[in-house]
Amino acid sequence: MGRTALVTGGTRGIGKAIAIALHEAGHQVAAVYHSNSNAAQAFFEQTAIPVYQWDVADFDACHAGIARVELQLGPIDILVNNAGIASDAVLHRMTPDQWWRVIHTDLGSMFNMCRHLVEGMRERQFGRIINISSVNGQKGQFGQSNYAAAKAGVLGFTKALAIESARKNITVNAITPGYCDTEMVAAVPKETMQTIIGGIPVGRLGSAEDVGRTVVFLAAEEAGFITGATIDVNGGQTMR
Ligand code: NDP
Repeated sequence: MGRTALVTGGTRGIGKAIAIALHEAGHQVAAVYHSNSNAAQAFFEQTAIPVYQWDVADFDACHAGIARVELQLGPIDILVNNAGIASDAVLHRMTPDQWWRVIHTDLGSMFNMCRHLVEGMRERQFGRIINISSVNGQKGQFGQSNYAAAKAGVLGFTKALAIESARKNITVNAITPGYCDTEMVAAVPKETMQTIIGGIPVGRLGSAEDVGRTVVFLAAEEAGFITGATIDVNGGQTMR
C-alpha cells in the first residue's frame, strides 16, 4: 500500500537515493532541501518528486513546511530524517559555531521534525520513522566530536521515541551508514580515503542506493516488529 513519505535532505546524495527508492516502492514522496536550489531543480526534473525548501534546524520552519506538504500531499506516514552536515575540526580548534551548527542540524532536526509529525501518527495509529545516523556516531572519528556527538545522540533519541511510540504502531529505527560515495565524502583527502576503504571488509565505499534499499525495507507495513533498532549499512566495517 502506497503511503506519503517525507525525506529531509532528499534532493542530493543518500537522501536522493532514498526518495527515489521510496517512490519506486509505490509511495508518494516529498523531498526537503536547504539551499542548493540547482540540485533540487535537477532532482525534480529527473524524478518529478515535489521538492520543498526549509531549514530542518529551525523548529518553526519545520512546522510551517510540514503543514505545506500535508496540505498538498496528505498526512505523512513515513518520515526519513536524513538531512545532515559535517563541519570537521579537532576539538581544540573547533568554534562554537561549528559545534552548534552540526548539533542543531544533525540532532536538533530529529526533535524539530518528529515533534510536529508524531502526534498525527499517534492519532492514525501508524508511522515509520527512519533516522540516518552514521558509523562515526558509533565509533567516533578524528576531527568529528560535533558530528559523532550528534549522530550518537540520534541513536539514543531513536530508542526512546521507539519505546514511547511502540503501542501506537509507529516504528522508529536508525540506519548507520558507513562511508558512501557522496559529495559529503568527496571532501575527504584521497590518502585518508584509501585507508578507510582498506578497513572495509567488502573493499569498497557504500552507495546511496545501499541505504535507500534499507529505508524501503524499514518503511514497509510488514516491518512493524522492527523498532528501536540500529541497522548497520557499512560493508562489514563494524560487526557487532
Ligand atoms: P549530502 O551533503 O550529499 O546531502 C545533504 C542533504 O541534506 C542535501 O539535500 C542538503 O540540502 C540537505 N540539508 C543539509 N542541511 C540541511 C538543513 N539545515 N535543512 C534542510 N536540509 C538540509 O549528504 P549525504 O547524502 O552524504 O548524507 C546524508 C545523510 O547521511 C547525512 O545525515 C549524513 O550525516 C549521513 N551519512 C553520510 C555518510 C556518507 O558517507 N556520505 C556516511 C554516514 C552517514 P542542500 O542540497 O540544499 O544543501
